[in-house]
Amino acid sequence: MAKTYDQILEEARAQVPEVSVDEAADLAAGPQPPLFIDVREKEEYREGHLGGAVSIPRGFLEMQIEAKAPDKDQPVVAYCQSGVRSLLAGRILKEMGYTHVRSMSGGYSAWKGAGRPWEQDFQFTSDQLKRYSRHFLLPEVGEAGQAKLLQSKVLCLGAGGLGSPVALYLAAAGVGTIGLVDDDVVDMSNLQRQILHTDDRVGVPKTESAKMTLTALNPDVNVIEHRLRLDSSNILDVIKDYDIVVDGCDNFPTRYLVNDACVMTGIPNVHGSIFQFEGQATVFKPDEGPCYRCLFPEPPPPGMAPSCQEAGVLGVLPGLVGCIQALEAMKLILGIGEPLIGRLAHIETLGMNVRVFNLRKDLDCPMCGTHPTITELIDYEEFCGLRGGTSASDADAA
Ligand SMILES: [Zn+2]
Repeated sequence: MAKTYDQILEEARAQVPEVSVDEAADLAAGPQPPLFIDVREKEEYREGHLGGAVSIPRGFLEMQIEAKAPDKDQPVVAYCQSGVRSLLAGRILKEMGYTHVRSMSGGYSAWKGAGRPWEQDFQFTSDQLKRYSRHFLLPEVGEAGQAKLLQSKVLCLGAGGLGSPVALYLAAAGVGTIGLVDDDVVDMSNLQRQILHTDDRVGVPKTESAKMTLTALNPDVNVIEHRLRLDSSNILDVIKDYDIVVDGCDNFPTRYLVNDACVMTGIPNVHGSIFQFEGQATVFKPDEGPCYRCLFPEPPPPGMAPSCQEAGVLGVLPGLVGCIQALEAMKLILGIGEPLIGRLAHIETLGMNVRVFNLRKDLDCPMCGTHPTITELIDYEEFCGLRGGTSASDADAA
């Protein structure tokens, strides 16, 4: 016999005990808080929800509940806007074998009306919901992860070969603030690999050219130009507002300078370097792994490690290494996967040999060891034997 809406509701009430807003709040504050399931539509959830509640719209309940509440004896409290949909959802949960199901009477309206605390997740615009839809599909990223990306600040050192893929991919992925440090102008010889820049921008400052490209790709991104050369006097001021530094520079004084400043401030440094046909990338995260000085306590003698400008570099190579750096920066922001902390990825492109080496922290490291001897920034040109000026320190970003 067909049932009316009222009969269905009555049956649901008989099967699913209801709790008032006050009782739900007591349960939430108790020793074994139940899992609160918000069965409203995503749009309703986004506008505000109970803290810690998981969102499973009623239409997806059967499909998603087991992933979010695998233990069927776990107490759950379903709620919706007014207490009706959650009653019907509770009935489904009972049928699925959940043993401690309750529905919050009055729903979210009553909860909010009683002045109970609620939360609102990051508010995406309709364009953002489309732009980042492929991220939303990944449970490891989702809306919470995309909100983290949009609220994160990444500083790219160099808007050159490595900085180009790093900044392009981070901008596309929705990293909200991207800083670019470079004091150079676009040169025709850069265009073979530095894909942020275009032929008609030769002579334009690289940070300005990069900003045009990144903003055209994703207007969500706030691009900050730092048109300067980093040194001991300015680096701390430049990096202090960023969550992550991505080092794409091409000279040793800057590498040591960036390393020391990042260790001092605790900012993770996603390192990359390239040479002719090979490249490498790793993550120096203070307190969790080695730093650049653990690996290279001494700089190479001047002239022994030629730059791209002197030794040449294959066009696509910085794309490979820069993409690894961009990926590692994303993993750090999202807190997913295993970042390349204490490991170094090495790519040799002619034989296409990709290897990952384990790195060890040096307990005697003058910067991050047990008894550090470097406690302030030094003169890095002098440290690298370059005082007086040689080409290595003038080389542009890799
Ligand atoms: Zn170290």
